Amino acid sequence: MKNIAILGSTGSIGRSALSVISMFPDTFKVVGLTAGKNISLLMEQIKLFKPKVVAVGDRETYTKLKDAMDSLQSPDMLYGTEGLSNVASMPDADTVISAIVGSAGLIPTISAITAGKTVALANKETLVMAGNIVMSEISKYGVTLLPVDSEHSAVFQCIKGYNKSSVKRIILTASGGPFLGKKTKELENIMPEDALRHPNWSMGKKITIDSSTLMNKGLEVIEAHYLFDMPMDRIDVLIHPQSLIHSIVEFNDGSYIAQMSKPDMKGPIAFSLSCPERLQDVVEPIEWEKLSGLTFQKPDTETFPCLSLAYSAIETGGTMPAVLNASNEVAVHAFLNGLIGFNDIPVVIRKVMDSHVVQPADDIHIIIEADRWARDTIREDLHR
Ligand code: NAD
Ligand code: MG
Repeated sequence: MKNIAILGSTGSIGRSALSVISMFPDTFKVVGLTAGKNISLLMEQIKLFKPKVVAVGDRETYTKLKDAMDSLQSPDMLYGTEGLSNVASMPDADTVISAIVGSAGLIPTISAITAGKTVALANKETLVMAGNIVMSEISKYGVTLLPVDSEHSAVFQCIKGYNKSSVKRIILTASGGPFLGKKTKELENIMPEDALRHPNWSMGKKITIDSSTLMNKGLEVIEAHYLFDMPMDRIDVLIHPQSLIHSIVEFNDGSYIAQMSKPDMKGPIAFSLSCPERLQDVVEPIEWEKLSGLTFQKPDTETFPCLSLAYSAIETGGTMPAVLNASNEVAVHAFLNGLIGFNDIPVVIRKVMDSHVVQPADDIHIIIEADRWARDTIREDLHR
């Protein structure tokens, strides 16, 4: 039996993880859950999975949860970054699924690592903000980090068993999002509900907007750079609208290995929990004879400049990727709230990046300070 704690259990990844766990009750047990503010769903999950400990994002939500729970059946309840970190490092957990969205996932994920947990990582923002620190903590504490992001799970599956020196390049696939083929002019009047209509994947709001701007792929290139210790010029992006090939590894001898499945996050989540074993019938089979074709094209970085911003953030290095991430989070939020247009997202991010004085990112406090600076700077700009 593997004991699992899920950070972000009420989100899209958290719910898919619980559905995988429900399929294999003799293999996995939930010991800890955390949520931001959605206490009604958290309470349902508590009733069903009976965790020992739960945590929520803030004190106000904690008070509401405490009032609403029947004390007899209550788990231990915590709140705030410390509470989330306590769940991440709880002694009972073997594996921690890191599935909080955004920079709020950073500190709890580091807590899981320093407590020696196996980490199934969905929260890519952790690696974007603090890739060097996180990867050195991983080796310092000798812990296993397993990717949940479908592209990185694919690369991990393709690369397994080969020497890194045999790999020529990594090709991350991208669906292209709902605006594939459109030009900047056609995107001027895009509304949040248009951008939230992803053609292939059902995900949380932030990552869905990130997919429509291609920032998600930019964040994933950075994630791959750290996870696979691969220079950025050997990580490419290829648009593949059918989302059946989840990524490709090219080897020195001209051979390629790709991983395929229907687009369903239960697949990579299950593999991150069972690796090296494979669980039974997690994702529906592909009906090969019904496939009309697999197509590929280059990304259009002129219309979707966020992808290039991510490459340039890593090239600059230091605190710049954290600034990219924080300004993107605020810009996406502002777009969802009607404060800026779709095409403004890369413009405001670039502006913050241009005014940032880069620092070496060798201390987590420096990274958190850069994150805060970027948020303040962009908010001031938006409210001017
Ligand atoms: P989501 O918005 O659906 O869920 C986010 C979860 O984090 C929720 O449980 C929410 O309550 C919690 N949360 C948010 N802010 C919090 C805070 N301040 N404190 C504590 N908890 C907080 O997001 P998602 O789509 O499940 O994505 C989660 C992470 O996984 C993201 O980093 C995303 O990039 C990554 N990811 C998601 C998918 C997907 O298919 N959804 C695929 C690959 C990677
Ligand atoms: Mg992905």
